[in-house]
Amino acid sequence: MSTPGTSGKASRAGDSEIAGDSEILLTGGTLIDATGAPARPNPGVLLRGDSIEVVGPGAADAAGAGAEHIDATGGTVMPGLIDAHCHTTFDDVQSNDELFFHRDPTMAALVAGQNLTKMLRAGVTAFCDPDTLFSMGPSLRNAVEAGVVAGPRITTGVQALVTAVGGTAGRLIPDEGVVGYAQVVNSLDEAVMWTRRHIKYGADWIKIHATGLLPGRSGEVLCWSRDELRAVCDAAHELGTPVMAHCRSPESVTACANAGVDILLHASFMDDEGLEAVIRSGSALCPTFTFLANLADFGGAVGAGVGMEDIFRGEIAATAKMMRLAYDAGVPLLCGSEAGFALTPYGHWHGREAEILVNELGLSPMEAIVCATANGAIAMRLEGRIGTITEGCLADVLVLDGNPLTDIRLLNDRRRITEVISRGRRVDLSGPWPAHGPIPGDKVRNWADDILTYERAYD
Ligand SMILES: [Zn+2]
Repeated sequence: MSTPGTSGKASRAGDSEIAGDSEILLTGGTLIDATGAPARPNPGVLLRGDSIEVVGPGAADAAGAGAEHIDATGGTVMPGLIDAHCHTTFDDVQSNDELFFHRDPTMAALVAGQNLTKMLRAGVTAFCDPDTLFSMGPSLRNAVEAGVVAGPRITTGVQALVTAVGGTAGRLIPDEGVVGYAQVVNSLDEAVMWTRRHIKYGADWIKIHATGLLPGRSGEVLCWSRDELRAVCDAAHELGTPVMAHCRSPESVTACANAGVDILLHASFMDDEGLEAVIRSGSALCPTFTFLANLADFGGAVGAGVGMEDIFRGEIAATAKMMRLAYDAGVPLLCGSEAGFALTPYGHWHGREAEILVNELGLSPMEAIVCATANGAIAMRLEGRIGTITEGCLADVLVLDGNPLTDIRLLNDRRRITEVISRGRRVDLSGPWPAHGPIPGDKVRNWADDILTYERAYD
């Protein structure tokens, strides 16, 4: 039994401050409602509390005397971005060593709070973070919901389930136990046990790290048995919790789709068999090309991926071709930024995936915007309730200076996002960008960048 005033939505002390019954009226400009309907002159949008109350000519009449008025003339009104795949606790990490061994729980939580502000200011009003350092995802989500810190809406996992193969971090992952974002599971029973525990700890999603690197093998390989994958999906689904999986090999796409994984991340090099499995299973795809595209296009500027540009471009091109077929077959595509790494810092690249869908898949800008907004509702577990400007939808709205249908890159240009409305409240976009300085112990320090051989010293 719950005590009145201590549980349930109505009892949350912060509710009135978070939403209240404040009203915002948006007039003028172009409306992209992200339902797939053509853009149209904005007929008026009235937000009341955390709800889109009226979309239409009656909006102004329905607004109370105290409503705030935003004139979007010359601009675009559209839903907030939903980043379906990012890592809010990694803090723009530069290496696996740094990620696994140079983070402190308290500092990581404080920095994550700042990262939420960066994302909001970049127009991200909701995101999904499937695996978090020190299992902090549920606490971060709950802190935002309770009004402790401001941030986008969050769905979260706890940690990624990895087998002892170690995912993409190899021997940095211990043979058993937990490190960083990873929980090692060594048997089918352990996989099921940790699935249930993560749900008990508050996971909205279970994350499987399906592929990893093996010494002497190029590319990632499937590190799980089919039975283990299915057991995790069954255990999660029985408890009403969906599953997403990191899949960077063709066989992992087929295996995960067949096992019942709900969102496949990356789906690199998906083949015909994988595509058929995805279509049959009803899974959604979140390619998260942005990390690879940043490596290929700009990695050299920060000393990353030099000489590998063509390999990354090849992976994007090969995967994009299959993603297009999936899209044409009706598979929902979601946009994820992979924010959290040095190549994808918070607040900088959340809109780039839509640009890649236009350039690499040949989607129209409108189709890409739907992927970056309405389709993200799948990751938020709020299908039909978030990601569109329709009556009854949650009040997450952007105003852009310009039209993303003529230049999709606008979504990724913070300077052109003139209003971010999160939960029916205007986000303060003034003031300096919330960057932080060096944090003691946060970075890997090398003794030297190279090896001091005798020849190097004297020849
Ligand atoms: Zn990721």
